[in-house]
Amino acid sequence: MGKATGFMEIKREEATQRDPIERLNDWKEYSAPFSDEVMSRQGARCMDCGTPFCHIGMEIGGATSGCPVYNLIPEWNDLVYKGKWKEALERLMKTNNFPEFTGRVCPAPCEGSCTVAISDPAVAIKNIEQAIIDKGFENGWITPRIPEKRTGKKVAIIGSGPAGMASADQLNQAGHNVTVYERADRAGGLLTYGIPNMKLEKDVVARRIKLLEQEGVSFVLNTEVGTDITADELKQQYDSVIVCTGAQKQRDLVIKGREAEGVHFAMDFLTTSTKSLLDSNLEDGNYIDAKGKDVIVIGGGDTGADCIATALRQGANSVVQFGKHPQLPMARTSNNMWPEYPQVFSLDYAHKEAKAKFGEDIRQYCIQTKKFVADENGKLQELHTIEMKKTRDENGMFVYEEVPGTEKVWPAQLVLIAIGFEGPEQPLLKEFGINTVNRKVEAEYGEFTTNVEGVFAAGDARRGQSLIVWAINEGREVAYAVDEYLMGSSKLPTVAGM
Ligand SMILES: Cc1cc2nc3c(=O)[nH]c(=O)nc-3n(C[C@H](O)[C@H](O)[C@H](O)COP(=O)(O)OP(=O)(O)OC[C@H]3O[C@@H](n4cnc5c(N)ncnc54)[C@H](O)[C@@H]3O)c2cc1C
Ligand code: SF4
Repeated sequence: MGKATGFMEIKREEATQRDPIERLNDWKEYSAPFSDEVMSRQGARCMDCGTPFCHIGMEIGGATSGCPVYNLIPEWNDLVYKGKWKEALERLMKTNNFPEFTGRVCPAPCEGSCTVAISDPAVAIKNIEQAIIDKGFENGWITPRIPEKRTGKKVAIIGSGPAGMASADQLNQAGHNVTVYERADRAGGLLTYGIPNMKLEKDVVARRIKLLEQEGVSFVLNTEVGTDITADELKQQYDSVIVCTGAQKQRDLVIKGREAEGVHFAMDFLTTSTKSLLDSNLEDGNYIDAKGKDVIVIGGGDTGADCIATALRQGANSVVQFGKHPQLPMARTSNNMWPEYPQVFSLDYAHKEAKAKFGEDIRQYCIQTKKFVADENGKLQELHTIEMKKTRDENGMFVYEEVPGTEKVWPAQLVLIAIGFEGPEQPLLKEFGINTVNRKVEAEYGEFTTNVEGVFAAGDARRGQSLIVWAINEGREVAYAVDEYLMGSSKLPTVAGM
């Protein structure tokens, strides 16, 4: 274990963040480098509590508790405390294909269920994870692992997000020839085009893709399955196919004035900004620009927060975020007890930046947008809203009611709709003849088989918009299922069985 009395003697410390105003001048990651001493002290706080809830990885109360890839957290905490970084890396790589992603952007459900967190702030698990993998790359401990034997079996993976990448990694290590098809011009899925650079620098994603290529995985970019190559061609050319196409169909806000120039989906804003940044350092102008505009982000979630941070860096005049739900409580309530994920008020990186720039929290709660209004040229001019009250109906269910007299008009030239996703895009699934449930691919967790022989599915396409760590979990698990399908049995580790 860490230091026997560490959890009593040492306070939680996290990696420091760069100054919120200063970092608005660039697109680099907002967290500052770690010191080994701080990470070692944090490792010392781990109690090695015997029943480590930090890696239970399950849904409780509608949210994830514990680490979904069952990272061996107490083991690597102890090794980091003792300065045994290489051994810590070996333990980490047993369960997580891409800790450099999760260590940066995972919401860390492990910390919500850390036993220390019953009475004190949790061990800084996520920061330790990032420190271990970053040290692994810095010291050249991560090198290509080229499989010694090839099976001659061919697997096609559609989609190069974390689910596709994790399944490609596992199946390549099992000796299969793996080809990943990606319609975008860069691999990585939402790691590349979705999560902005200041949360996850794209060099970090490109480094992993390059490593996978060196190990034998082929990436075929700018190729949309269903358009550039058909489902039948893929089924004929490969022994097995895995659908990892994500769940990127955005939910629209169909209200009066939606067609106004200046109303965009959040993903179009985030994707074009990152592409232009990577292509030309924003010099080509091929992006939706918030410069000088009053920006309103509709949707209180993480995608909305990424829009705020992006708009601030582009030089927005003002930014406001509307959320449907009331502000979260400052501490856990009696119906959100440990080890559930803590549903408590927090300031995300983007909210800290906005507060530093504008002097206040820019979030507006319980707001409903009624209509968009454009000027005579069709350009967005303002938004009309009303406040909502959350109450319970006669059956005890939560309902929202408009509060009369709270109508308000907001000036806005750019609105970003970030109210969630409606599952995977349907045309490809139809072309394969894949059955769906609630628009998602019908494939049982643990089996991952669709109704089409030899075709499997994993990640957001199967479970709906989720987390990177779940995509990695599913990528590992589907790889086991495909390996077993191709070879009759599999020696690949599974998340549950290790
Ligand atoms: C803005 C945003 C921010 C997020 N931030 C976080 C975060 O901070 N932390 C976190 O844990 N999670 C975050 N998430 C969620 C996380 O990114 C996803 O759960 C995860 O990426 C899902 O992985 P995936 O591999 O299933 O799909 P995706 O990452 O969506 O990748 C699917 C890929 O399939 C490709 N594709 C689709 N159809 C085809 C086709 N027909 N042919 C070829 N290619 C195709 C797409 O282009 C895409 O590259 C965020 C999501 C969004 C939208
Ligand atoms: S992957 Fe996420 S849940 Fe798992 S240890 Fe890392 S930060 Fe925690």
